[in-house]
Amino acid sequence: MLVPALIRDDLRGVDDEALTLSVIENKHRRDAHARDYVEAARQLSLMPLPQAVKERHARALGLSAAELTAADKASKLDDKNLSAAVAYDFDLVELADFQEVAHINNARSRLEAAKIRDRNDGAGTRGHWAHALQCLKDEAAEKAKRVQLKQDLAVAGVTLVDWDWRWHETPMRPLKDLVTPLGTAITAHQHARCPGHATTLNPFKPTVTWLCTDWRACQHKLSREASESAAPDAAEMAEKRRRTIRYNAAWRQACSVRQEFIANLCTRPGDATDEVWKFTLSAITGTSAMYSQYIARHRTDLISAFLKIKDPNHDSEPWRRVEDPFGSLIARTGATGRWRLLFAQVAAVYEHQAMSDQAWRNPISKDTTNWLAFLQRQKYSLSDIEAEVLDTARERSSRSAA
Ligand SMILES: [Zn+2]
Repeated sequence: MLVPALIRDDLRGVDDEALTLSVIENKHRRDAHARDYVEAARQLSLMPLPQAVKERHARALGLSAAELTAADKASKLDDKNLSAAVAYDFDLVELADFQEVAHINNARSRLEAAKIRDRNDGAGTRGHWAHALQCLKDEAAEKAKRVQLKQDLAVAGVTLVDWDWRWHETPMRPLKDLVTPLGTAITAHQHARCPGHATTLNPFKPTVTWLCTDWRACQHKLSREASESAAPDAAEMAEKRRRTIRYNAAWRQACSVRQEFIANLCTRPGDATDEVWKFTLSAITGTSAMYSQYIARHRTDLISAFLKIKDPNHDSEPWRRVEDPFGSLIARTGATGRWRLLFAQVAAVYEHQAMSDQAWRNPISKDTTNWLAFLQRQKYSLSDIEAEVLDTARERSSRSAA
C-alpha cells in the first residue's frame, strides 16, 4: 500500500541516506500528500547511485525494484488522478500503468474494477489488471489514430461528414456502392475530382470510408449489389457489425495478455507440473489434425516468443528455414528444463490453430475451449470474452449431453 509521506525542504539536495531516512520518518504523517511520496520515490530512482544501493533504500521504504522503476512515470499523473488512484490503493507500478491511459474515459474505475477482481481471485496475480490495461492502451492508440486521421484529412482539404447507417435516406452513398455510368467501380483517387467527394470516419474502428455527398446529381449509378439490396434494417445491421467489431477487438486484446502469460509459464524454473506434462504429451502423441498442420508450417516465431528468445528465422524467407533453430538453446538447457521446449511448441500449436481472430465465433472449437480451460487451471485470468466463449461452449455441451 502506498503511504503518503513528506520530504523536508531542508533535506533537498542532501545525500540519499538522509533522503531515505526523511521519507521513512514521514511515512505515517496523516496530513502528508501522495504527491510527496511519489516524488520521494522518483528522486531516489533518479539518483546517480548503483542500482543495488537504490534498491536497498527502496526496500527500506517498502518499495519493490519494479515500483522504484515505475516512480518516474507515476509522478507524471496530475494531482486529481493521483490522489484518486492512491485512495484506491494503487501502488507505484499501477500508478505508472494508469498514467499511460489516464486520458481514456473511466480508465481509473476500469482499472479499479480489475484490481478488485484480481484480489477476489486470490491468486496473487494481476491478470484482470493486464487485460483491462491492454484494453485501455488499445483505446488510447485508436483515439490517437483518429485524431491523426482528422488532421491529415484537414490538411488535404477533404470534406469530412458524419457517419450514417441510413445512407438510403440521404443523397450520400459510400463509393463502394457506386459505379460509373459504364458500370465500373469508382476508386477514391478517381473520385477526388467529383464535387461530391467526401469522407467519413468509421465509428467503430479508425478507418475512413470515401463517399459521394450527392451521387445522383454527380451522375454516378448504384452498383448492382447495392441496388438489389433493398434498404436493410439499419439498426440491425449496425448492431451486428458493432458486435463483430467489439468482439474481434476484445479477442485480439486478450491475445497479447494471454501470450505473455504463456511465455512466463514456459520460462518457469524447475520441472513442469504433472498437469503441464500430461497436457504436453497428449497433444504431441494425439491424433489431432491441428498438431500435424502446424508442424508442417515450420514456424518458429511463436515458440521463440514463448521461450523469450529471438526467432532464429526472423529474417529468413518462409521456404528457407534455419536447420536446427533451437540447437543452441537445447544444448544449454538442463534436464529439468527440457519440458519448456516441448510445451512452447504445444502452446504455439494451440495459439496458432485454435485461437485465431475468428475462434470466438460459433461453432467454438473444442481445441479452443480445452486450451482456455487448461490455461485457467494454470492460474491465467480469463478476459471477459474468453470467459464468455468458454461458458458458451460448456453450456452447449451440457445441453447436448442432456
Ligand atoms: Zn461523386
